[in-house]
Amino acid sequence: MNKDYDLIVIGGGPAGIMSAGRAAENGAKVLLLEKNDRLGVKLAITGKGRCNITHAEFNIQALIKSYGKTGKFLYSAFNKFGPEDIVQFFNNRNLLTKVERGDRVFPDNAKAYDVIDVLKLYLKKNGVDIIYNANVDSIESSKNKIDKIILKDGREFIAKEYAICTGGKSYPLTGSTGEGYDWLSNMGHNIITPKPSLTAIVVKENFVKDLEGLSLKNVEANVYQDNKKVLSNFGEALFTNNGLSGPIIIDSSKNIGELLEKGDVELQLDFKPALSDEVLDKRIQKDFAEGSNRLFRNSLNALLPQKLIPVMIKLSKIDPEKKVNSVTKDERKGLIKLFKYFPLTVVKLAGFNRAIVTAGGVDIKEVNPQTMRSRIVQNLFIAGEVLDLDGPTGGYNLQICWSTGYIVGENFNKDKI
Ligand SMILES: Cc1cc2nc3c(=O)[nH]c(=O)nc-3n(C[C@H](O)[C@H](O)[C@H](O)COP(=O)(O)OP(=O)(O)OC[C@H]3O[C@@H](n4cnc5c(N)ncnc54)[C@H](O)[C@@H]3O)c2cc1C
Repeated sequence: MNKDYDLIVIGGGPAGIMSAGRAAENGAKVLLLEKNDRLGVKLAITGKGRCNITHAEFNIQALIKSYGKTGKFLYSAFNKFGPEDIVQFFNNRNLLTKVERGDRVFPDNAKAYDVIDVLKLYLKKNGVDIIYNANVDSIESSKNKIDKIILKDGREFIAKEYAICTGGKSYPLTGSTGEGYDWLSNMGHNIITPKPSLTAIVVKENFVKDLEGLSLKNVEANVYQDNKKVLSNFGEALFTNNGLSGPIIIDSSKNIGELLEKGDVELQLDFKPALSDEVLDKRIQKDFAEGSNRLFRNSLNALLPQKLIPVMIKLSKIDPEKKVNSVTKDERKGLIKLFKYFPLTVVKLAGFNRAIVTAGGVDIKEVNPQTMRSRIVQNLFIAGEVLDLDGPTGGYNLQICWSTGYIVGENFNKDKI
């Protein structure tokens, strides 16, 4: 049993790595415990393997607005170590970055593994001890103080301070399985129920199976509850085997989840948001007039992707063998409705397996935003996704980890506030 660590960090994801590295840089003797056989398993798959490191919004006031209700908690951490600082951090270590569409910051060479390599070197240079395959089973505490950490294989570790950086519950195969919530709850922390966020949605309509893999650019997803439009998002959507995914769905998913708790949710896709109903009608009439002897089933090629046409024809209830010159005005109106208000009934959000982040987690009222120190357990810090903080896609979620982790490393041996 090793007794002389200043800080033990549990979890080798971005938050844990930054906590450990910065604390060591500030002179602490640090041990990092990771249950996988390597660091940053989830980090490696971020941004489709390219790692959207952060969001290039350097005005902190503006940045925190993107995090919703809990965003204010991040104000101090972002001021201390915000998007500009993490970009500098990587640039200073020879990892160049570029800003892409939507202010998303990526490594210049588009490789998440290079981000991990820089972080590993940061830990090594500052002398952080790392134990891999170190699956923490339990934390023993008394009088609001952690006494020791016990691994599944029975090994025990003691330090002056501890940091829990075990992430959320999403993509559990990466190691983020949510044990942190249990330990923290046992030690007296309130855990806001973890829920999948930034995820796909499951819909009732079986025909989506036929559309699986179809990606649609420049569409609008309009979300309705009680016949009122409550949400609208424009961009790219993707059909899955049981629903929808893609950027506009993923970014709406947290709100959709909240709406589902209140009642039924309908999602209408507008395949032609740039055209009003009237303009689209004129366009269809023109197409029909130009090929008036064409069969209806052959008449939509210029307007829709191939995969969508059989579904649209079926839902329109227009006889596919009918010549377009005999399609009635009412039938055309029904068709336009499908183009502009393609209805899908949302059943639920896809589960943790497909969620990019976990909403919910440690109640931030119980954590000091200046230090990331627990207000309940004296010698404990908490950082990263395990906290009740989450943002939209675009580098916002990793920024939470870099900033809160850095703050741990800045405060590991300061007075307990
Ligand atoms: C597919 C996907 C793509 C994403 N893309 C982006 C992106 O491009 N940009 C962005 O900002 N965000 C992205 N995210 C979100 C981002 O990856 C997470 O918010 C971030 O990884 C959370 O970091 P963390 O350090 O808090 O936790 P994690 O990265 O989850 O790390 C926690 C670590 O703790 C370890 N651990 C857990 N329990 C134990 C235990 N009992 N004992 C020992 N170790 C344990 C785990 O093995 C894991 O390594 C993406 C997420 C996913 C799933």
